[in-house]
Amino acid sequence: STPTPPSQILSGLVGSEMCIRDRGKTMDLGLTGKVAVVTGGSKGIGEAITRTLLAEGAHVANVNRSSTEGEALEAEYAAKGQRCKFIQGDLIQMDACELAVKTTLAEFGTIDILINNAGVNDGVSLTDGPKAFLSSLQNNLIHYYAMAHYALEALKKSQGAIINISSKVATTGQGGTSGYAASKGGINGMTREWALDLAADNIRVNTVVPAETWTPLYAELIDQSSDPAAARKQIEDIIPLGSRFTSSQEIADMVVFLASQRSLHTTGQIHYVDGGYTHLDRKYTSRSNNVDLSK
Ligand code: NAP
Repeated sequence: STPTPPSQILSGLVGSEMCIRDRGKTMDLGLTGKVAVVTGGSKGIGEAITRTLLAEGAHVANVNRSSTEGEALEAEYAAKGQRCKFIQGDLIQMDACELAVKTTLAEFGTIDILINNAGVNDGVSLTDGPKAFLSSLQNNLIHYYAMAHYALEALKKSQGAIINISSKVATTGQGGTSGYAASKGGINGMTREWALDLAADNIRVNTVVPAETWTPLYAELIDQSSDPAAARKQIEDIIPLGSRFTSSQEIADMVVFLASQRSLHTTGQIHYVDGGYTHLDRKYTSRSNNVDLSK
C-alpha cells in the first residue's frame, strides 16, 4: 500500500479506526480571535504569555494590580489594531476576580482561555503564623480558584481551556516558604481535580511549572547580591539542559500550545518547563561542576 505522506497526520479516532486528515505543513495553533484572560499579564512570565497570545491572533484581557505596564501594553497593541484590554484589580479581593471576568465578557462576549499566572514567592514560613499563611494563600492560590469559578459558565459555553502556572517549589520545597509551597501544591492538585470535573464539558485543564525562569524581577534580585555574575552562575550550574535559566518565552510557548487547538487531548497534566531542574539526577550537574563523586 502507498505510505502515508508526512503532511498527513492522525487527527482523532472515529469508531475503531484512525481518521487521517491532511493539515498541510504548518502547525496553526487556531488561536485567531480567541479570547484569553491572563492574570498578572503585565510583567515577567505573564507578559510573555500575553505577547505570545497576541502574536497568535488572540485577544487578551490582562488582569493586573499595578497599571502602568498594563496600560502601556493596551496602547501598544491598540496602535497595531489588536486588543489587549487592561483590567486593573488586586486578585486577593474576590470582588476584583468577579469584576475581571464580568469586564472581559462585557468587552469580548466570551472567554476561551483562562491563564492563572499571578503569584509571588512571599516567603511566609512556619514561624510566621496562621494569619501570614492565610495571606500567602490569598496571594497565590485562592484567586486561581476564584477566577476559574467566575469564568466557569463562559468556559463551558466555549469549551475552553485553563492553564495554571505553578512552581517547582511544590515538588522540591525551598525552605522558609510554607504559604507559597502549599499554594503551588494546591494548584497542582486542583489541576487534576478540575480536569476530571470539567472533562464532560470538554474543558481542558493543565499546569505549567517553571523552576528558574529569567524575568526582570529575577534580574533585579540577582543584581542585589554582592557578586551578581557569580550568583547567576551558581543557579545556572544546577540546571542540566544548557546550564541556563529558562526564558519567559519558553514558558509562554508551552502555555500557548496547551491553550491551542493542537493539544485537544491533553488534560490534567503538570508540565515542567525547567531544563530538567526539578527531576533529573543531581549527579549530572555535580559532575559538570567537577564535584568529587567518588565517595
Ligand atoms: P513577576 O515578574 O513578579 O510578575 C507577576 C505579575 O503578576 C506582576 O505583573 C504582578 O503585578 C502580578 N500580580 C501579582 N500578584 C497580583 C495580584 N494579587 N493581583 C493582580 N496582579 C498580581 O512574576 P513571574 O516571575 O513572572 O511569576 C509569574 C508566575 O510564575 C507566578 O505564579 C510565579 O509563582 C511563577 N513562577 C515563577 C518562577 C520564576 O523563576 N520567575 C519560578 C517558579 C514559578 P504588579 O505589577 O502589581 O507587581
